[in-house]
This record gives sequence, structure tokens and C-alpha cells, in this order.
Amino acid sequence: MSSKVFFIKTAISDGQELISQKARQLFKAAGFATCFKQGDFTAVKVHVGEPPNNTYIKSPCIKGLVQELLALKTKPFIADTSALYTGRRHNAIDHAILANEHGFNISVLGIPFIAPDGLFGTSETSVQIDGELNKEVLIASDIVRCQSILSVAHFTGHPAACAAATLKTLGMGCSSRKGKMRQHSAMRPNVSNDCTLCGDCFDHCPAEAITLGDVKANIDSDKCIGCGECVAVCRFGAVKYDWGAEDRILQKNIAEHALGVVKGKENRAVFFNFVISVTGDCDCFDRQDMSKIVDDIGIFASTDPVAVDKASIDIVQSRSGKTIPQLLGKDKLDPRYQIEHAEHIGLGTTDYQLIEID
Ligand code: SF4
Ligand code: SF4
Repeated sequence: MSSKVFFIKTAISDGQELISQKARQLFKAAGFATCFKQGDFTAVKVHVGEPPNNTYIKSPCIKGLVQELLALKTKPFIADTSALYTGRRHNAIDHAILANEHGFNISVLGIPFIAPDGLFGTSETSVQIDGELNKEVLIASDIVRCQSILSVAHFTGHPAACAAATLKTLGMGCSSRKGKMRQHSAMRPNVSNDCTLCGDCFDHCPAEAITLGDVKANIDSDKCIGCGECVAVCRFGAVKYDWGAEDRILQKNIAEHALGVVKGKENRAVFFNFVISVTGDCDCFDRQDMSKIVDDIGIFASTDPVAVDKASIDIVQSRSGKTIPQLLGKDKLDPRYQIEHAEHIGLGTTDYQLIEID
């Protein structure tokens, strides 16, 4: 049976207030109110941005959605977990301060930011699943404990997952630190001769896996946790992943962790993809030079996390006339791994019916 995916056109040029109104219109038209009950603790999963990257979905754009949850008398809170990377989202204190600076706060939205994985990203709950790679996944404790979820994903490209949207927001973005490490565990970078020995990767590696040799940096693959920080910080493009070798495993892991996030919340979670400001890399990249790879399209929403991602990928590809790997210039990647695996493990369906809202 197909899943309904609701769609409304919008663009950054509409302005934040109109984008918020359109997201709210979508929520109402889709009848999502039935997914939330009075008194629910409802996680509103977002990405609060990673400065100086400025292409994340801004807090006023989700105000209408928060107002819908408040009108339903739930107890919504802005939720995001600690990142593996060093930076402003590495622990709950710095993350909350950043969220506040970016307007994900009581003043702008009327609800607080709460890290569902605790101060250090270690507050986790083991969820049993019947996955191909995992029989248990480690999810942020308060994501598991809350009764409902409203997920807001910014659709972007991604250097390993190829497309980052709802499945990645759930799988990676709602896992504990250990859960994230497990997802990345198959990926190991190496350093090419373009290395200038600047030392940035050495300074940022959370696992102390990097040493500076005579001609280039070296990575100890036994210590490396595959977090990708060295790839992100190297200004010389000297740290490489063999993406083609491992991205399939990462994407399957993401899908299986997403399954753990929604387990027990069937019909109690809704998933929004904002397909605007679509950049080649995801919002975790702390770079200013993020440029759009496709014109703004709009907002997609569904109670099916697989269908909403499939519909978003399909429309980005049809509007641009290119596949996402072509848009990213990375032919080895393929976004279908996570979608097809998610469908295979019962997270949702790729068979969708697109319903456009005026
Ligand atoms: S950040 Fe890049 S250039 Fe600098 S030491 Fe590491 S690999 Fe070499
Ligand atoms: S060497 Fe491994 S652990 Fe260290 S930053 Fe790179 S990917 Fe992360």
C-alpha cells in the first residue's frame, strides 16, 4: 500500500514567516494532529546550525509547527543530540547556547532546547530491532522516552549518505554518541600526498588517531572511530574516504538506527523535509561557502519516513535533470542504499502518493 506524502511549494525568497505559515498549512491539510495527544512530551528534532554555515533551516520557519503542537496541548521541546565532531554542538551546554543564539529558544518559539542524549551525548537507551547489521541500536534516552516526534529535516547532499534528509535526521541525529560511532564504524579515512602537515586534523581528532609524520599526517586505523572530523577540517582536501567501499554500510546503519528511533511510535511521529537551500554538504559542515545545487522546491511531509525521503529525492532529481550523485560530482555514491534498506527492514515504503497543497 502506498503512503501519502504532502507537498507545498515554497522558497527562501518567500521569507521565514510565509515558510512557517506554509509548513503549518501542510500540517493541517495532512491531518497530522491525530499523531499527537494532550500531555505528550514531543521532540521537535531540528539541526540548529553549525557556524559559520548559514544555510540551515532557521527557527522562525518552524514557528507555525510549534504553535500547532502547543495548540494540541503537547509539551514540545527542541531536540538535537551532541555531534561526534568538535565544534559548538559537541556537548549539551555549548549546543544549548548555540541553539539560543540561533533562535531555537523560548523567546522565539515558546519552547526550550533540551538535549535528549544528556550533557555528554552518553544518555542512551538500547532498542532491540531486527536489522541486518544491528539487533540493538543506541538511541538518545529522551527520544525513546518521549511520546511523539515531529522531525524537521533540511534536505541536503552528504559526502557518504549521498542524500541527508529524514532518515539521516532520525538515524544519526537521534542516536547517542556511541550509536553514532557504531554507524560510522566501517569508514576509515587515509591521507594523501596533498597533506601540508598543517596539523588541523591532529588538533581535531577526538580519538587521538592522527600523528604527524615527516611528509604527511598518518591515521591509526585501530584507533580511528570513523567520525569524519579530519575530512571536514582539512583545508587541502588531503584526507580521503574510499566512499564507494563503505557508504552502503553507513546508509544501512542509518536506516536501522532510524528504525530504532520510531519503534513504539507508530502513528505518533511526523516527518518534514524542507527542500530549500539544498547544498551539496549537510548542515554539520562548519563552512561559509555552501552553495545551492538545485533551486528551492518546497516542503514535503508524511508519517512515513521512507516515502518522504523517496519523494524528496525524486523531485530534486527530476527538477535538476540530474541524479544526486551527479549533482554532488560523486559518481560512487547512491542514495538508494538507505531508502531501499529502510523499506526492506519495514520502516516504510518507497511507494508513495504525492498530494500537493495550494
Ligand atoms: S588537516 Fe590536512 S593538510 Fe593538515 S595535517 Fe591534516 S591531512 Fe595534512
Ligand atoms: S582519524 Fe578517524 S577518529 Fe580521527 S578525526 Fe579522522 S575519522 Fe575521526
